[in-house]
Amino acid sequence: MPSLTETFAARFGHAPDGVWSAPGRVNLIGEHTDYNGGLALPIALPHRTHCAAAARDDDLLRIHSLQEDSFVEVRIDEVTAGHPAGWTAYVAGVLWSLRQAGYAVRGLDVVVDGQVPLGAGLSSSAALECSVAAAASDLFGLGLIETAEGRSVLAAACQRAENDIAGAPTGGMDQAAAMHATENHALRLDCRDGSTSQVPFDLSAHDLVLLVTDTRASHALADGQYGARRDSCETAADLLGVEYLREIDVSALDEALAKLPDDVLRRRIRHVVTEIARVDEVVEALRQGDLAEVGRLFTASHESLRDDYEVSCTELDLVVDTAVAEGALGARMTGGGFGGSAIALVPVACVEQVSAAIAAAFAEAQLTAPQSFSVTAAGPAARD
Ligand code: ADP
Ligand code: MG
Repeated sequence: MPSLTETFAARFGHAPDGVWSAPGRVNLIGEHTDYNGGLALPIALPHRTHCAAAARDDDLLRIHSLQEDSFVEVRIDEVTAGHPAGWTAYVAGVLWSLRQAGYAVRGLDVVVDGQVPLGAGLSSSAALECSVAAAASDLFGLGLIETAEGRSVLAAACQRAENDIAGAPTGGMDQAAAMHATENHALRLDCRDGSTSQVPFDLSAHDLVLLVTDTRASHALADGQYGARRDSCETAADLLGVEYLREIDVSALDEALAKLPDDVLRRRIRHVVTEIARVDEVVEALRQGDLAEVGRLFTASHESLRDDYEVSCTELDLVVDTAVAEGALGARMTGGGFGGSAIALVPVACVEQVSAAIAAAFAEAQLTAPQSFSVTAAGPAARD
């Protein structure tokens, strides 16, 4: 297989100026909390999307991906909601939104190679955006990648690309993780003020691994359901007289629930409020080195997402139940739900046993074979 640089040179007839990359992410806990001004706790994955790029002195963007059989040319000033369509929106959108934010960006020649599984809930989209943003920062002398504040600017531009150009109404967690997460740390992300802090996350010291299982189940249901959950949260916030559900402390939950008119709304809000509280409980347990407690909180989060928020599915429940039955300290779905991936906190000694049992359970249920892999907390977007 030709390398990324060779592919670039063969396509464009010149070498790239460099290669940049950004990680996928997996969220340890804090699901469906970002749009409620809540907390999340992602780690960056060792899986990265690499972007070979060369600056142009005109406005043209020429984009190719090793994962897609397409080549697209678009001018930055032609980029708009829905144009270009498909995967190139994630690339073109980044340059568009940086320009909207007042940065002097020009065109690029780009070839991307993504090692983050696409559409598995591990954020290949933000990895793609952030690899391009890192390249743009260096190639146009923006200096943004060099400071934490600058990285936040890049993350916001990437989120805007995804929301406004690709048309995916996601919160900012994925881009924040790709820009700010560091090796052997989880990123505590406060979605109300955008602040971040690093929490030690080195499982090897505890003879544990984080096992990620991509269920391969499609997110087909996800879009409408995601919107419906957001609407429920907004309705409840209005009824409770708060801007964000974050403002409801878990100690005041019962009081808040009593003000809501129906059981579905009450369960949705109970998930959000308890989930936000669980994030800081996990942070505290990690700081104390109490990994059994982290596992217990993972499973509690899954139960809340399954029963109260109703965003799990057969495949995700099967991973969680099997992992826990085979010795995991805890497990939960991660990401928006209805498919995607699950995580389990597993003693090193039983990783093989847990992943084999998950594969066997899927085979028995006649489901598409899942993919399980162990991950460590890796580093953020950077020049390779
Ligand atoms: P996730 O971010 O969980 O992987 P999304 O649906 O948000 O799922 O993003 C997946 C989409 O991102 C793909 O369908 C594709 O459009 C785009 N994408 C991500 N990585 C690449 C890549 N390496 N090459 C081309 N497109 C990519
Ligand atoms: Mg995504």
